[in-house]
This record gives sequence, C-alpha cells and structure tokens, in this order.
Amino acid sequence: MRGNKMNEVRMNCPSGHGKMVVRKAKKRMTFRGVKIIVPIEQYICIVCGAEAGTVNQAARIQKTIADTYRKAVNLLTGEEIVEKRKRLNLTQEALAKRMNVGIASIKRWEGGTIQSKSMDHALRIALEGQTVGDSCTGNRTFSIPRIKLVLKEFESVLGKHILKKNDKMLFAAKYLWYADMVAHRETGGSLTGSTYAALPYGPQLNNYKDLIEDIIRADESKAEPLNPEEKRIITRIAMKFSEERMVYDAAHKEKIWKKQPNGAIIPYTDSVELTGV
Ligand SMILES: [Zn+2]
Repeated sequence: MRGNKMNEVRMNCPSGHGKMVVRKAKKRMTFRGVKIIVPIEQYICIVCGAEAGTVNQAARIQKTIADTYRKAVNLLTGEEIVEKRKRLNLTQEALAKRMNVGIASIKRWEGGTIQSKSMDHALRIALEGQTVGDSCTGNRTFSIPRIKLVLKEFESVLGKHILKKNDKMLFAAKYLWYADMVAHRETGGSLTGSTYAALPYGPQLNNYKDLIEDIIRADESKAEPLNPEEKRIITRIAMKFSEERMVYDAAHKEKIWKKQPNGAIIPYTDSVELTGV
C-alpha cells in the first residue's frame, strides 16, 4: 500500500490552485459499437475544475475499458482469466501450452487486450473444461482411447471391422455418433466426449482428419471400461444397424443433423430429438 502511494504522482493545478484531488467518475462511451459505462479516476482541481490523468491511471482505464467491454459482450475478462487459471493451479505458460498459443497472448489477454470470439471459446474450454463443453462433449472429457474402445465393442457385436486403415470414418463415425447421442439421452453423459459436426455426408467426428491416426493407434485398455448400461446401448445400436449402410441412411434422416448448417456442431442437448434409435 505504502509503495503504491509513493508511486502515485502528486499533481498540482497548472493555474496555481495547488494540489489537485483524485475524483472517481463514470464515463459513458461507445467502444467497438457497444455502449459501456466505465469507472474512471482522474485528478481535478477543486478551484477551477481543470482535469488531468496520470500514466498509471491511463493504463488502468485502458484495462477497465477492455474489461467492461468484455463483460458487455460476454467474453472472459482479464480478471476472470487470471482467477480461473489460478483456481486450476496453472501458470501462464501451462495455460498457453494447453491452448497451443504463445505465452505472450495469455499475458496480453490477462492484461487487457481483447481476445477474439474463437480464442474466448478456446479459453473457456481450457479453463472451464466440461461446463462449457456440456453441449459439445456430452458431459464427458474427450478420450481417444475410449473412442477406440467403443468402436472395438461395435466390431465385436457386429462381427466385422468398421475402422479401417485410411478410413474417412464415414460409417464408424455414424455408429459412434449414435452411441454417444443415445448414451447422453439415456444416461446423461456421452461415451467418448467427442464433438460432432454436421457435414454434407452426415454427422462426423469433428476434426476427424486430425484424429483418425491417433484413434487407430490408441490403446483401448487405457480407457475407462464400459459399464453394462453403456454396453447395452452399443449392442442395441449394432443390432439395429447390422449393415453399415443402415447406420449411414438412418443418420441422414435425423433432423438434428439436417437442421444444422454445414460444418456446425451438433449439440448433445438435441439428443432427445433422435428418432433412429
Ligand atoms: Zn485550478
């Protein structure tokens, strides 16, 4: 506290009225098209009303504008990023690594630079994990070994391979999608935590191109074992769609896929509207 005070600049009125006082005020402004009210501090002369700010105050105001704006448009504020990061015991470096961005970005966002909408989404996933991912991951942490485990279970019921080398997951992803969606509908949680996108050829594992090799290589014994209820769901779906073509056709009739624009995420909250299983 004491050090802080010593850093504060003492301002005198340029017209010779002596020491100026600090005044807190609320300033209305339009920032990036959004009307915000920003609390500010400035020096004022109580005799003539002359106003002045210090460099410290200017830096604080910049941060305050950024945070007021972020709050108004529903982006995480710098303070919120710091608070959530510390709650997870993450250093700035660890968070940067988790998000695959430079540490300088984390420093800037925490310090008062406004992050983009997509970076805000990435921040929330890194900092809030499942809570934000509920509709994207169906209340489960994404697990590649579990995808492999679920596909293996399908293969054992179907008695054939559905995951092939150089696979585009055209059929495997449909089985997986039904299993995750039905599990979410009936147990409140998906099986694999996967996110699905609505593509022209049906629901598809989001970013499957980046995942496919890892799925093929994954060790399913590292995954949390399937419980009896989860196994029953997989068996039911496999029995219903004994041929790959059947699961493909059924998925194309689902309105929860049809209603999404190309490339959009199909939310798990729509699982109640499934009709095929
Ligand atoms: Zn004055």
